[in-house]
Amino acid sequence: MPIQVLTDKVIAQIAAGEVIERPASVIKELIENSLDAGASTIHVSVVGGGRRMMRVSDNGQGIPAEEVEIAFARHATSKLTTADDLAHIQTLGFRGEALASIASISRINMTTRAHNEITGTRLQIEGGRLIQRQSIGAPAGTTITVENLFFNTPARLKFLKAENTEKRQIALVISRYALAYPHVRFVLEQDGREAFRTNGSGQLADVMITALGIETFREMVEIESDLPDRRSRMRVYGYTSSPGINRADRSRIMLYVNGRWVQDASLGYAVTQAYHTFLMKGRYPVSVVMIDLPPEEVDVNVHPTKAEVRFQNPNEVFALVQRTIRRALIDLSQTPTFGGKHSLSAINLSNTNTHTQMDMNLELESPGWYPHQYPTTPSRDQPEEEDDLTAIPVGAEGPRKPRTLPLLRVVGQVGASYIIAEGPAGLYLIDQHAAHERILYEQFMSEYANQELTAQSTLGGQTIELPATEARLIEANLKMLRTMGFHLEEFGPNTFLIRSIPAILADQDPVQAVSGILEELEQDRTPGQTSIEEKIIQRVCKQAAVKAGTILSLEEMQGLIRQLERTRSPLTCPHGRPTMLHMTSDQLAREFGRK
Ligand code: ADP
Ligand code: MG
Repeated sequence: MPIQVLTDKVIAQIAAGEVIERPASVIKELIENSLDAGASTIHVSVVGGGRRMMRVSDNGQGIPAEEVEIAFARHATSKLTTADDLAHIQTLGFRGEALASIASISRINMTTRAHNEITGTRLQIEGGRLIQRQSIGAPAGTTITVENLFFNTPARLKFLKAENTEKRQIALVISRYALAYPHVRFVLEQDGREAFRTNGSGQLADVMITALGIETFREMVEIESDLPDRRSRMRVYGYTSSPGINRADRSRIMLYVNGRWVQDASLGYAVTQAYHTFLMKGRYPVSVVMIDLPPEEVDVNVHPTKAEVRFQNPNEVFALVQRTIRRALIDLSQTPTFGGKHSLSAINLSNTNTHTQMDMNLELESPGWYPHQYPTTPSRDQPEEEDDLTAIPVGAEGPRKPRTLPLLRVVGQVGASYIIAEGPAGLYLIDQHAAHERILYEQFMSEYANQELTAQSTLGGQTIELPATEARLIEANLKMLRTMGFHLEEFGPNTFLIRSIPAILADQDPVQAVSGILEELEQDRTPGQTSIEEKIIQRVCKQAAVKAGTILSLEEMQGLIRQLERTRSPLTCPHGRPTMLHMTSDQLAREFGRK
């Protein structure tokens, strides 16, 4: 093919590809425009995950009649005129590319009226071509409707993800902006149903509750940098989770620079660094971190989607973020008893979280032949854990399966977490939680495979209300969850009625049980070898297994060991961690200098 200059149309489509990757990118750009226009209410309506229709309405300043067409031209913006302006840009947009890009790959309808004008304008554009323009009566503000997205870029259309994924992405984008603009009222409607709403109260906490759920919010600690000293003129504030709440991926570390949501690996690292020794490796906090600094100290013109930034003094920003979070965590860990501000949250720590916390401590102590040092804080769990004793059927041996461990005799318990046992080959120290997880896991797997799983109806049918993104996830997996004993029914917007949970979770809080499952579903985006079904089963077993910190009777311990002896892989828990340490008679003799 000879070299030729591309037509404007093709150039526009290529450029659009950089900015508009998926329906959520359209929503992002339109919301940014509404925010830049000073809107106090932004109403988003989406049909079919954005493929069928997306509409963003605002009550911002509107576009003057004579500028309506130029707004859709490439590189047309009202937000800067000279390259110098870039250095202190205060608006979210400045590239003048979004409307042109969206218009080139969809059908757009826009109705707008500037605040100081009497009549509004309506414009229709398709594939970048102006189809119609008329004067029209309209409320002040702007409404943009986008249909047929990617109709002329089949490659993009083909790569669109499932409708539910797109819905989730859109909800995510809205919640990100809602967090950054708590004084703006956001409403999201998906397929005619309200999925998300903030009240515009100006309180970050209000938005956090809507976006993350009250349960998570209760576990959050407020962060605030020291009074900004005159030199740095920087401020870091927001919320971060207490170590009890943590996740397997970084997706809930949300960073904002001057009100702009950004992706920045090194800032994310600053956050996780602050949790050093508070969280075990591979676990990440939930954080909403706002960084405000003079606009000239940050370059936002790094990437077409404007989600990356470059700091003039990255180390200074990094250090302040890390220090601010670290201090909040240390303050929290030094809270003497569980009185005061966090008393509520401490008591409400879910079983799952307690687990993670325990596991964390297990990881941090060096695994040696020493009594396990308890974490001093979770003493509050003890009364609750009495119930868990029933989780181990005393003396039950189940159907005769081949023995995979030598016959062990229980000697006692260390630190209410480890069982000491002896066998012909020496001494065994068994992690009671990991061992029980293994037992339940094999049991559950075989019942699942044989479709023999029993479910336990919940008393009175509890409901669980979820953030929109999570509600979509549950919705998409209702059927699969049901095969595992989780019977959920839709019960109003983002609310589900919990009809039953797997029988092995019978004595657990159904809401906590479902929350745990959600976490697995959310992490399922990273493809791995373990199927989602299996991950959920692992999670259920983790929740049902007897916890570290539970005092067991001799019979209970013996019962547990009997069952472990007949599992297929007694040496590891379902996640691959060891269930036991073994010290041979030879080793013992050597250690005591007898050999
Ligand atoms: P940018 O936001 O980078 O300036 P856009 O293509 O997103 O570029 O928008 C072009 C221009 O159209 C903006 O600079 C603004 O003047 C105008 N505009 C777009 N959306 C709105 C809106 N919702 N309210 C008022 N003006 C808008
Ligand atoms: Mg814009």
